[in-house]
Amino acid sequence: MASTTSRKVEQSRRLQQRAESMIPGGVNSPVRAFRSVGGDPPFIVRGKASHTWDADDNEYIDYVCSWGPLILGHADPAVLDAIVGAACNGTSFGASTPSEADLAELVLSAFPNMQKVRFVSSGTEATMSAIRLARAYTKRKYIVKFEGCYHGHADALLVKAGSGVATLGIPGSAGVPEEFTQFTVALPFNNLSAVEHAFSKFKHQIACVIVEPVVGNMGCVPAADDYLVGLRLLTEKERAVLIFDEVMTGFRVAFGGAQELYNIKPDLTTMGKIIGGGLPVGAYGGPNEIMDLVAPLGPMYQAGTLSGNPLAMAAGCAMLKQLRERKAEIYPQLEKMSGELVEGVAAAAKDAGVALTHNRVGSMFTWFFNDRPVTDWESASKSNTEMFGKFFRSMLDNGIYLPPSQFEAAFLGATHTAEDIQKTIAAAKVAFGAVKES
Ligand SMILES: *Cc1c(COP(=O)(O)O)cnc(C)c1O
Repeated sequence: MASTTSRKVEQSRRLQQRAESMIPGGVNSPVRAFRSVGGDPPFIVRGKASHTWDADDNEYIDYVCSWGPLILGHADPAVLDAIVGAACNGTSFGASTPSEADLAELVLSAFPNMQKVRFVSSGTEATMSAIRLARAYTKRKYIVKFEGCYHGHADALLVKAGSGVATLGIPGSAGVPEEFTQFTVALPFNNLSAVEHAFSKFKHQIACVIVEPVVGNMGCVPAADDYLVGLRLLTEKERAVLIFDEVMTGFRVAFGGAQELYNIKPDLTTMGKIIGGGLPVGAYGGPNEIMDLVAPLGPMYQAGTLSGNPLAMAAGCAMLKQLRERKAEIYPQLEKMSGELVEGVAAAAKDAGVALTHNRVGSMFTWFFNDRPVTDWESASKSNTEMFGKFFRSMLDNGIYLPPSQFEAAFLGATHTAEDIQKTIAAAKVAFGAVKES
């Protein structure tokens, strides 16, 4: 695809070639690749607050924020201090350390529906474990997920998954025997009657319904009014476990995640991203009645050599403590500034005559090149990805780093400034011009 660019890309190109010779696609997670948007992926060498710098010394305003975790921006001083402090005492012991309960306390204080939490090292592990636990608890086999929702890369969950799977246009993944997904029922998002229908078809066989309460992994798609309430009522009636996958939304859309924002009590919650403060952490939790089935208390086995790693726990604690102390200031500020940014860019599209639909919940958002409302995977997938690619490349050339896919949410953090937002809207005006031209 287009390789004309006004950025300097020499060093990044060299690093990409080097990485490609040893690492598949040069990336350790396919969402970082630029295959769907074209152009040269910048190799990032440094970040501070809302900005990053690449190997060619280009500066960017970052709206990826490590795909969500960095709500306080890059290299937050308190998080850095905590990591360095912990590292000086040793990086891992394979035995319990005090900071695990510190982070547990912070998480439980924000999520009152959870009585116990288990830390793992990624969101993938969190959702995989929560599914296993739901099956152990209900002694049922089937799981319900929604098209366009991504819950990590475990076999049973890679069915009509959003995120990189959607970006690359592959239906699931090679290497997953169909027997491994035969108990996974994938239904359209925001459609309660589809769920009702599944519950009657698989009577007393559905262990759980797992949902991103605000979807971020087909781009940002909020739940329709009463959808989450409907899922809660249905799962309660059918005695199935309701899992809110708050890996992205936890501490993002509100301090207490989507369950606080919408006032819904799921049975199990999965987390990741923000709770690790930029280090690898995931978690799953819920009431004692379910969590006490987890080994060593109960028969559901789940383990991890580096789970509860002291550096990751320290980073998470430093992150969540600041969010707790400053939540009355941070979340309203994120809401206001994200609104200004998202609507400012949407207004620029309108002026340029480019059809755009914008979805946003708090500081999670997506501009879809789509002239219709985007409410599920069906409507999201009708977006014009070629136009998105042009927009993306122009924005990047003008110092704005967006997720390199139409089907990923962008994020604003507490360190983004009014100036960042004005610059981004100005760059969008140029980018919509580029989209229109061709
Ligand atoms: C990112 C994400 C995951 C996977 O987390 P990893 O840490 O990448 O394994 C799962 N669920 C949701 C909703 C996510 O956004």
